[in-house]
Order: sequence, then structure tokens, then C-alpha cells
Amino acid sequence: MPHFRAILDTMPPYKAGKAVVSADGRSYKLSSNESPYDPLPSVVDVIAEGARQINRYPDPAAAELTEAVARRYGVPPEHVALGAGSVTVAQQLFETVSEPGAEVIYAWRSFEAYPLLADLAGAVSVRVPLVDEAHDLDAMADAITDRTRMIFVCNPNNPTGVAIGSAALTAFLDRVPDNVLVVLDEAYREYVRDPDVPDGLGFYRERPNVCVLRTFSKAYGLAGLRVGYLIGHEPVAAAVRKVMVPFAVNHLAQIAAVASLQAEEELLERVDAVVKERTRVREALVEQGWTVPSTEANFVWLRLGERTLDFAAACAVEGVAVRPFAGEGARVSIGDPEANDTFLRAAAAYGPHTP
Ligand code: PMP
Repeated sequence: MPHFRAILDTMPPYKAGKAVVSADGRSYKLSSNESPYDPLPSVVDVIAEGARQINRYPDPAAAELTEAVARRYGVPPEHVALGAGSVTVAQQLFETVSEPGAEVIYAWRSFEAYPLLADLAGAVSVRVPLVDEAHDLDAMADAITDRTRMIFVCNPNNPTGVAIGSAALTAFLDRVPDNVLVVLDEAYREYVRDPDVPDGLGFYRERPNVCVLRTFSKAYGLAGLRVGYLIGHEPVAAAVRKVMVPFAVNHLAQIAAVASLQAEEELLERVDAVVKERTRVREALVEQGWTVPSTEANFVWLRLGERTLDFAAACAVEGVAVRPFAGEGARVSIGDPEANDTFLRAAAAYGPHTP
């Protein structure tokens, strides 16, 4: 038997959202916060053309995409680091700061990958419980020690959808020492409509220890291709690039992401439609009697406690896959109107007060 690292015995597996099918063959995947739309034909064409070159390695520096992201946000290309999905960029971040005893603070519950990546990198996770489904930024600042190397702030938070306002985030960042890296994980930034929720890039511009994590997986509809990025000051972006596995971002992902930035207007119209559906779904759930935290992302959160798995099973009967977190609640992505209607019917039939 090979000798594996002891941490592998205790690490929780990453549970990806799965599709389910109803008895009559219907399937609505609302478990991974993906775009419900088919890929844009213009993007598919670029991928098809690019497929002719897959005998060659991709550009290891992904220069064209790096430039395109830099231009899009008005930052120097040296401030951009790419990865195979923003989860991989997050992993790279953990690799850059972890050494024995290094502590990484994040809210909990938040994005499932944080504890996994911390364990993998050998960092100590410091989890600060949510309060009212939101980050407890005071408690997170109180948790900073001289061993703290990095803090993840997921805004809006996955899985609760709740976002942090400008004043609270500013006050928090003011309490973080310069030698602690703050990662504003904005995987759902494009869905934010509350004007009080700040664009993390404003903080990055003012503070060398703040970086922003974004993805092409959600609003840009490229979850299957795996491409995400970080915008941070040069030492941060350079460190993240240094620990990247060579050629991690493949050629098709690079060119599809460039094409998606070119087609951004069309993609952001789709985001508007998802946001409209989000409002409709949330209002309908509230009407049904559910308590639904105000969400700035492309999902809603229902705190179901011990009923969580039962609720997920009831949705699965209708072909609706939600993401249950046993004992806590269920996260439900906003899909197309038919998927959302089917989910709303399942939620109404189950009822907010089923014991
Ligand atoms: N951050 C957050 C908060 C997420 O919810 C996700 C995806 N579920 C990611 C990062 C990673 O997304 P990707 O790797 O597809 O870019």
C-alpha cells in the first residue's frame, strides 16, 4: 500500500452538483449555478475553428486572453493571473501563502472548496460562522493573528447569496494588516444589482494586499471549459502565475474566453434575464411562506435544517436538482423560466412548514 498523506483520510470530497431525471424524463439542473443558456453560436464557432490546433500546446502565458482581461478592466496585464477555473486560481493562491502553521480565514458556510484547498495546501482553516446568512466581518477581523496569511471574502456569498455592502467591507479592510492577502471572491459579480455592493476592483486599486477573483463559468457561460482569473497587484499576480501548473488553461478555453469578452454585451443581457427571474423566484417563494435571504447571485438559499435532504429528494421527483447541504439548507440556481416554474411548484407542494 503506498503511503499517502494523512490529510487525505479526513479531507471531505468535493460534492459537485449532479443532474436528476423525473420518472417522465424531465431534468432541470439547478445545482451548480451554471448559465441556463446554450453557448453563443459565435463562441461555438471560435471553439470549432480552434479545435484544428489541439495537436499543439496552448500559449502557456495565455497572452491574448490576459491582454483582453486587462483591457476589459483597465488594469496592466501584469496584474492578471489566469487559471483553469477560478477554483484553480484559488488553489494557486493557497499554494502561494501556505507553510506549516499558516492560517487562512474564511466565513462558513461559504464556497465548499475553501476547506478542501486549505487542507491540500497544508494551511490551517479558520472558519468564522455566518450571522444571518452573511459574513461576520467583525469576527473575521477579530480572528486575525500573526499567523494569518490570507482571508477569503466571498461576495456575494455562496451558498447564501447575501452580499456585503461598501461601508462594512471598507471598515473590515481597514483592520487587515498589509501583509495579509485579502481575496475578494466575486464569482457572481455580474449578477449584483444592489448599488451598495462594491466592485472589488475599487479596493484592489487602492490596496496592494487586495485581489479579486472572477470566472468565466457563470455569467459568461463557459463552466465546461474551466477558465477564471485574478486581478491583483504585480507581486500577487506574479506569485499566482509562478505556482500554476504549466499549460493549465487550455487553448479552447483561452480562445472561448476571448470570444466571450467580445460578445459580452449579449452575455450580459442574458445575465439581466437571470436577474429578473431571480426576483420572480424569490418573490414567489416568499409568497409561499419561505424565508429567503436577499440574494445578489444567480441562486437562492433556503435554510431547511434537518429537512434539507428530504426537500432535495422532493425536488428530484420533479426532475429538479438542487444543491443540498445536509442539516443546513439547499441552494437552488436560477434557471430558465420552465426550470424555475417546476422548482416553484415543487417548493409549493413541499411547503415551507413541512415538519
Ligand atoms: N468561487 C465561488 C464563490 C464559486 O461559487 C465558484 C463555483 N461554484 C468558484 C469560485 C469556482 O468557479 P470556477 O472554478 O468554475 O471558476
